[in-house]
Amino acid sequence: MSTQLDTLRAEIEELSLHLLQTLNRRAHRALDIAREKQRLGAPLRDPYRESQLLDRLVQNNEGPLDAPSVRAVFRGILDASVTLMEGRRQQGLRVGAAAGPAVGVTVRGHTIGGAEPIYIAGPCSIENEDQLEAAARGLAALGVRFFRAGAFKPRTSPYAFQGLGDRGLRLLRDTAARHGLLTVTEATSTDNADTVAEYADVIQIGARNMYNYDLLRAVGRTGKPVLLKRGFAATLDEWLNAAEYIALSGSERIVLCERGIRTFSRETRATLDLSIVPLARAASRLPVLVDVSHAAGRRDILTPLARAAFACGAHGVMVEVHPDPDVALSDGEQQITIEDFAALQRAVREGLFELAAALAPAAPQRSNGEHVSHVARLAVAGGQS
Ligand code: PEP
Ligand code: MN
Repeated sequence: MSTQLDTLRAEIEELSLHLLQTLNRRAHRALDIAREKQRLGAPLRDPYRESQLLDRLVQNNEGPLDAPSVRAVFRGILDASVTLMEGRRQQGLRVGAAAGPAVGVTVRGHTIGGAEPIYIAGPCSIENEDQLEAAARGLAALGVRFFRAGAFKPRTSPYAFQGLGDRGLRLLRDTAARHGLLTVTEATSTDNADTVAEYADVIQIGARNMYNYDLLRAVGRTGKPVLLKRGFAATLDEWLNAAEYIALSGSERIVLCERGIRTFSRETRATLDLSIVPLARAASRLPVLVDVSHAAGRRDILTPLARAAFACGAHGVMVEVHPDPDVALSDGEQQITIEDFAALQRAVREGLFELAAALAPAAPQRSNGEHVSHVARLAVAGGQS
């Protein structure tokens, strides 16, 4: 090789290193700007200023790079800055992992996100006194603490059963009280958020309302624990920001709940995205649950889904249980009987014992040690039937 080429290459390398230093100095300034913008409550991105900057660069360009190349290179630099600023902002969220250690959500002495595996079970909708009483009695006898049932139902069809509203809330409160159960029920509007807070132990925000920021603020203001479902097409970032709205408004007792996302697959009602469980646990301080019923939309695969949810780190699962699913007024095709729920609980426990036993001798101290101990802890905490 010619020494001339070597010299030129060395110079290019030197210039690149120099450029890198300059780019990182620029990135530091961008972070300073981001902090100031956060203080002022201003948006991170300012397209008007970006466009002005690109024009100015092109006007001052002496070549040989042409104008489109200058624009493309600086567009890349601007995008990298925004990615950096957004990353820092997410790390700065109150609900984000960097804000402190993971927090369990304790509701009248019972913790979601602690050592005990949690089941939130109950019918899709509150239909009548007998239905609710049978569900509550059956589930309480199985050791379930958190009883779910909807009074305000966000239905796809406006002609479908819309729920019993306030009357349903009263029925739920009274029935749960008779059996020592804690209640989880959905608020669907800023109009019913305060009433739901008055009657329920945990306010649910449904998938359809994850982006309803007025509602998120309204439930946050009640100071009650909130179970926040993931929207059908929500990214982790959007989900955590929805939680941040609640936290900023006054309630930091928030539980995340994956409930399936929309994909091309038609075999299930939604596609259960289990990848989000470890990702949400790593990115946030909040407990993470999995609603297997709304993800599957069918009865026959709930047990393996629940097992998988626990195995990959979920703190609990939500299951729709109805005393007689065939006559349910909503989501009948996915609700299971109390007997089938008992079998699911048993099968999940046994599955976790098997998994813990299979994994533990292999490498309990290695990188999967945490995973193994999570599974073993859940298996033991669940007790043997
Ligand atoms: C529900 O849990 O009752 C419900 C409607 O779920 P999602 O919002 O996840 O569809
Ligand atoms: Mn339902």
